[in-house]
Amino acid sequence: MIRLLVALGFLTAAAAVNAQAHSSQYTEDYQREALELFRDIIGMRTAAGHGQVPAMADYLAMYFLDAGFDGEDVKVIRQTISTGEEVASLVVRFRGNGLANRKPVLLLAHMDVVDAIRSDWVREPFVLIEEDGFFFGRGTSDNKTGVTALTSAFLRLQREGFTPTRDLIVAFTGDEETTMETIQHLLTDHRQLIDAEYVLNSDAGGGYRDLDHNDVSYNLQAAEKTYVTYELTMRNPGGHSSVPRSDNAIYELAAVLKNIEQHQFPARMNEVTQRYFEEMSSLVEGDVGDAMASYARDPNDPAARAVLSKYPAFNATTGTTCVATMLKAGHAENALPQTATATVNCRLFPGVPETEVREQLMQAAGNPDLEITIAFPAWEGPMSELREDVTAAVADAARSQYGDVPLVPYMASGATDSLHTRMAGMPSYGTGGLSMRPEDMFAHGLNERVPVDSFFKALDHWYNLLTDIGSDRARQ
Ligand SMILES: [Zn+2]
Repeated sequence: MIRLLVALGFLTAAAAVNAQAHSSQYTEDYQREALELFRDIIGMRTAAGHGQVPAMADYLAMYFLDAGFDGEDVKVIRQTISTGEEVASLVVRFRGNGLANRKPVLLLAHMDVVDAIRSDWVREPFVLIEEDGFFFGRGTSDNKTGVTALTSAFLRLQREGFTPTRDLIVAFTGDEETTMETIQHLLTDHRQLIDAEYVLNSDAGGGYRDLDHNDVSYNLQAAEKTYVTYELTMRNPGGHSSVPRSDNAIYELAAVLKNIEQHQFPARMNEVTQRYFEEMSSLVEGDVGDAMASYARDPNDPAARAVLSKYPAFNATTGTTCVATMLKAGHAENALPQTATATVNCRLFPGVPETEVREQLMQAAGNPDLEITIAFPAWEGPMSELREDVTAAVADAARSQYGDVPLVPYMASGATDSLHTRMAGMPSYGTGGLSMRPEDMFAHGLNERVPVDSFFKALDHWYNLLTDIGSDRARQ
């Protein structure tokens, strides 16, 4: 997944300046151990088709066993997915003493990465390279810092003799970037291994830095939009291109697409997006900040929405979006086209029925001859309610690393494994623990990187967070 891109141009400057850190400054044993583990797993090409995920699961399992976790509580679950590849997930249970009398908390990260082609990268993608205050390498941000930080936190707590008051469960999945079958397999066939009151996912959320590396906010992902893809087709009897006619599948489809481009879906708001615009309005200056405040009060204020629509990340938070992504038309250069098809990918605001979006597309298209079919069906996960115990614990853990920054809940446009845990009835929250400038985010892209200081802060973020939610002083 890609973290929500906030248009940072407007952010007012915040407190502490982060010096460009070098890893030699980090000398605690747990920091050295985590860095070694991070280096080893970045070196594993866990992209689809390379068969490295089971080896990574086995490698991580060894760390947990060496630290004293019982063999019964460390499970590598191998699985052949629909592409024919063998992948795996790793589930580790940190047994509590039951004093909290609450169901476990599930902690998620994924071991797989999007592939990287060496010739496209400046540096070796599957080698951890430290340069200019960054760790470079495929998976550094998505999501191997999460894997490393969760592993490190479990190892530290275990060695310190910590006993949580409720069970804490780590689950590392093996195909989040492609088919998401490992999380579904865990939920359907191994539910008792991972059943939890709620989920904290390291694969979303985290801090934002402005251009000068100041920490500005810490973002908690509490909802994801619903993904659905349509195919829009115009048909025509065709004919010879030497005798053009006014009816033409390509021109008609083009007109339909221009109409859809102009269409704005109705404004929608939920608890998460309302809190998002409220919190952001105090961080963003000028007209945009004012529009956010007005929108949070009344999403049907057309002037506020008009301002927000100019910024893609904010626009995507105000309602459903659809966009043409692929085209296919005609069969010969000297023939009138018999079909013209566009692929239109939509991201539905949670709770909006797919049928409603299809009807609105049909109306907006302005041509009753258009055919609309579903190319990828809707998978709809509900929004996760902003529970006080979760938001308070994450806010404390974030402040322990990044200073007095506000906690900003948000809805993501893309999907993570949380889609499936939410569909399975477990509220899920994304808190990655890293803090970065949007300019430095290259998840899925070239030269992926994380700031060195932030990598080590993510370790402490998770250690503090798990200590908090695993303690008697856990909030109600
Ligand atoms: Zn991810």
